[in-house]
Amino acid sequence: MTDRHCGYLVTLAEDVREDDGRSIVAALRMIRGVVDVQPVEADPMVETMLKGRIRNNLFVAMRDHLFTACEHCGGVGFLGSGACSVCKGSGKRT
Ligand SMILES: [Zn+2]
Repeated sequence: MTDRHCGYLVTLAEDVREDDGRSIVAALRMIRGVVDVQPVEADPMVETMLKGRIRNNLFVAMRDHLFTACEHCGGVGFLGSGACSVCKGSGKRT
């Protein structure tokens, strides 16, 4: 069964001034089916926490991608295709 959506949380690439954001809010309200759009005030503390989480998630993803040993040859480093950069095989990461 397909899940149903009751709304969306839209994230801006950068904070915008309240008066500049009015046109964004107006544009979102013009989308068919949208009945309400509520701005979220920028909060430096929350932003700092979120940036920290994102930074950590990226670090873990990069570490897992770059420094996980190949179970075939023990080498570390995988190519974008998923192949081991040492043996060029498709040895799975351990
Ligand atoms: Zn390998």
